[in-house]
Formats: sequence, structure tokens, C-alpha cells
Amino acid sequence: MKNITVIGAGTMGNGIAHVFAMNGYQVTLVDIAQAALDKALATIEKNLDRMLKKERITAADKDATLANINTNTDLAKGVANADLVVEAATENVDIKLKIFQTIDENAPADAILASNTSSISITKIAAATKRATQVIGMHFMNPVPVMKLVEVIRGYATSDEVTKTIMELSKKIGKVPTEANDYPGFVANRILLPMINEAIYTLHEGVAGVAEIDTVMKLGMAHPMGPLQLADFIGLDVCLSILHVLHDGFGQPKYAPCPLLVNMVTAGKMGRKSGEGFYSYSHGTKELIVADAFK
Ligand code: NAD
Repeated sequence: MKNITVIGAGTMGNGIAHVFAMNGYQVTLVDIAQAALDKALATIEKNLDRMLKKERITAADKDATLANINTNTDLAKGVANADLVVEAATENVDIKLKIFQTIDENAPADAILASNTSSISITKIAAATKRATQVIGMHFMNPVPVMKLVEVIRGYATSDEVTKTIMELSKKIGKVPTEANDYPGFVANRILLPMINEAIYTLHEGVAGVAEIDTVMKLGMAHPMGPLQLADFIGLDVCLSILHVLHDGFGQPKYAPCPLLVNMVTAGKMGRKSGEGFYSYSHGTKELIVADAFK
């Protein structure tokens, strides 16, 4: 495996491109927006500079990494020589199915097609191609250069050989892969989102305030971040959409999103990215907001 194409140059795509390029792979980063590609290259350079400053890499490593990355706004051309495609485009089923159809038609017949989706069925994505045995989930965590985990998700038809190749490749780029079958939320989000939802219910029912809930989980359970702060970090809209996937997929009331979460998203409070969620980020630092339910 030598040529890796990463589709989508956003938060995850730039990190995935960074990690593969730093490990000596030739990376083609593809996005529909040239501005996203420019921003991704600037972010990768900034992150490499940070690593250089901490003496984790040399100036030569930085130059070699950047030299390993090409960009393209044409999806068909971008996958033409790929041994592996890692799709990290916008989390939208229609967008992903269309991308996989195009990749399937244009990538070499033996190329493996992976998706970094957080919640869309790998089996469904694979069914949009004529090579379902070669389609797999490669779920990196944010920020990709820092976080060690890769959830490797086997779709219904994914072959043992393809799974083994991706597990080994993940180790080669310094990650720790875990294997899971393709069910809603895989492992990470199936366990994390009900915990976050329960924390929001705890707030909504007036059992405790934001600071108290986060403090209990940080100091009592040794979590580096409380669940409400983590929800703000992930994005409340993203949390809500993953809960919908779990609720629809399993049909069990335990996954029903808390009405407070629904209200906050409807009101445009998305967490850190919108400047406000359970905390306010408008002054550049995290400040506690006393949510309406607890006033
Ligand atoms: P993002 O919005 O930051 O980036 C998505 C990029 O995809 C954008 O630059 C957009 O221009 C591009 N794009 C959209 N349609 C495209 C197309 N047809 N062809 C090429 N590029 C296209 O999103 P993100 O947060 O990086 O998420 C990407 C994927 O990673 C999603 O599937 C998401 O579920 C998953 N994921 C996200 C996180 C996270 O914490 N952000 C964690 C794990 C997995």
C-alpha cells in the first residue's frame, strides 16, 4: 500500500492526511472546495510546526510530510491511482452514497474503500458499490494526529482479508485499532452518547447543575472532560444526530434524545462551534452557563 486518497479536507480529513503523510504514504487530499484544501494544508503545517517545537519531529520530517501531500478538487481523478481511499466528507447519507459510487467507478479494482463515518451504516455505504467485500469503516478520533484509537468496522460483506489489511495498516501509522461489527453507533458512540444524553437528562430534571455533573464525572470517574463539556466539544447537533441514529436503529426508548438537547439545537446552541452550549465560549475561554432548566 502506497497511495492513499483522503476525501474531505475538513476537521477529520486534514488530520487523516497528516498522519498518513507523516508515515511515508503518498496522500491525495480531495475536497469539492479549494478553500477547504488550502485551509487543510495550512492546518497541517501549523500542527507540524507544533510537533517540531516540541521536538517530536525534525524539520526534515516536516518537509517530507508536506511533500507527500497533493490536493485535487476532482474526485474521479483523485482516486485514479489509490490503493486505499479514506472518505471523511460531510456526515450526510446522500453525499456519501454518491461519493462511493464515483469512487467505485474510478478507483483501481483492487483498492480498499474506507469511510470515517461516525454513524452511517458501512453495510449501506458498501451496497452503493460493486465491491462490498472491500468496503470498511475506519473511524478515527478527533484530533487525529493525537488520538490513538481507530475503530475498524466490518460491514456485513467486508472480507477477513480486507479487515486484516486495515488493522495492520492502522498499527503501521501508530494507531491502536479495535474491530467491531456494523451496528448503529459501532462501539464508541453507542456507549458515549447514552452517557452524554443521561447527563443532559440529569440537568434537565434538575438533579444537579452543569458544573456539578461535569465535576462528578471528572473527579469521580477520572474522565478528562465532563460529559456536558464533551458534548459542547463534539457539537450538540452532532450528538443529537447520532442519538437519532441509535434510536432509529435499535427502536429502544433508552436512546431517545433528551428534550433539552433538542431545544438547545433548535435554538442554535451547538456548543463550542456556535460559541454557546452548556458553557459559553464567546470570550475565548470556557465559562459556565446555568441552563434554563436549572435556574
Ligand atoms: P467537516 O465538515 O469539517 O469536513 C467535511 C469536508 O467534506 C468539507 O471540507 C466539505 O467541503 C467536504 N465535502 C463535502 N462534500 C464533498 C464531496 N462530495 N467531495 C469531497 N469533499 C466533500 O466534517 P468532519 O468533522 O471532518 O467530519 C467528516 C467525517 O468524519 C464525517 O463522516 C464525520 O461523521 C466523521 N467524524 C467526525 C468526527 C469529529 O469529531 N468531527 C470524529 C469522528 C468521525
